[in-house]
Amino acid sequence: MSQQIIIVGAGMATAYLLQALARHQHDLRITVIGDEPEACYNRVMLSAVLAGESVAQDLQMLDTQVGAGAVNFITGTRVESVQLDNKTVCTDKGETLGYDRLVMATGASVHKPDLENSWVGGVQELRTLRDAQRLRNIASHGATAVVVGGGLLGLEAADGLNQLGFSTSVLHRRPWLMNRQLNREGGELLQCKLEKKGISFRLEKSVSRLVLQREKLVALELNNAEQIACDLLVFATGINPNKCLSAASGLETDRGVLVNAYMHTSQQHCYALGECTQLGQQCFGLVAPVRAQAEVLARQLLDMDGPGFELEDWPTQLKISGVDIFSAGQLQQPGEELVLRDRGAGIYRRLLLRQGRLVSAVLVGDKRDASWYRELIHSAQDVSGFRNQLMFGRTTCEAMQTAAAAA
Ligand SMILES: Cc1cc2nc3c(=O)[nH]c(=O)nc-3n(C[C@H](O)[C@H](O)[C@H](O)COP(=O)(O)OP(=O)(O)OC[C@H]3O[C@@H](n4cnc5c(N)ncnc54)[C@H](O)[C@@H]3O)c2cc1C
Repeated sequence: MSQQIIIVGAGMATAYLLQALARHQHDLRITVIGDEPEACYNRVMLSAVLAGESVAQDLQMLDTQVGAGAVNFITGTRVESVQLDNKTVCTDKGETLGYDRLVMATGASVHKPDLENSWVGGVQELRTLRDAQRLRNIASHGATAVVVGGGLLGLEAADGLNQLGFSTSVLHRRPWLMNRQLNREGGELLQCKLEKKGISFRLEKSVSRLVLQREKLVALELNNAEQIACDLLVFATGINPNKCLSAASGLETDRGVLVNAYMHTSQQHCYALGECTQLGQQCFGLVAPVRAQAEVLARQLLDMDGPGFELEDWPTQLKISGVDIFSAGQLQQPGEELVLRDRGAGIYRRLLLRQGRLVSAVLVGDKRDASWYRELIHSAQDVSGFRNQLMFGRTTCEAMQTAAAAA
């Protein structure tokens, strides 16, 4: 009899897992239980839906082949408990389903600061397709939106709201935007580019109080006691792994569900995948590691040998049209800085070298060669032979090397 796999959560990690499994012949019976009405859509494109550049159908990640046959999708259904001893899960529809192996892929939720009245209608988030559709339905004409958080997700949400016609500003606690991925100069140039699109910024500020009138959000009080008008508040202040179901079931958790490099949890026959997981001290908030985890887990479910999941520095790219941003590697390491600055063209590049190797790259305004820089960082290749041309990209470096070899 073939094995029954239950996957809890129908998000992007599950989509990648199903895609990886579909590349092999197998007879697994797979049931995916997800609490959203839609299964396995590309969450990364939510800001494009918000901006009106994409619609729900554009976000589908699975073709009919993967979704057909052995995969049974149960959507709009929440798994409420897991009984590890008798290998069953219970859903909010009162159903009990048995499994041979279980995968927890419950993702993460938006982390919201602990503020009074944050239940009011004007406080929203951008995590699901419904969130994006709800935000689109809120009247934007003349309204003021404030996004709290100047990281990747906050800036993309701000761009979407700005395109919808909200007068949009971003509050960020740190002195420059995307401070984890960009150095100060890169962050400041990014801010200039977004200001040109009409978004305004308040740096080193946070919200201390929501100001309501007749139970309606009208303003925010900031940490310097200043009040700013606000009809719509969107939090983009980080994420928390969804670990409660796993913890209640008896799996070991910390900030997330604890896994080893093969995605095994603390219990036999039970695996975890995606943003709900924690490996060592590391939790995850980007697609690249989630996808790599899915490849590893697919091999485990198929009882195939293969390497485990390895931690690395995954690159970040901003997806706002007209604003090219790329960042890879360890920004804060000591090293030799190579900088190209063209304020007129809005281009900034900062490459950091240590012992003849590229350790980080920040590209603002022109991200050509991003994947090459990423490769050089990853492979730790010695770049001393073309150091002087490194800034100008792969083609220039290769042409110079060919010319030198011919001379
Ligand atoms: C607006 C936005 C933009 C993003 N942009 C980027 C980007 O540019 N680049 C990048 O790398 N990453 C980006 N990300 C992050 C990326 O979307 C996530 O890394 C990825 O979705 C994680 O996949 P996951 O399956 O672990 O979690 P999710 O995709 O969140 O899926 C988890 C699913 O499980 C469901 N679930 C939870 N508990 C239960 C339960 N008990 N029963 C049933 N179902 C349950 C959840 O509702 C959810 O549907 C973005 C995220 C957002 C929100």
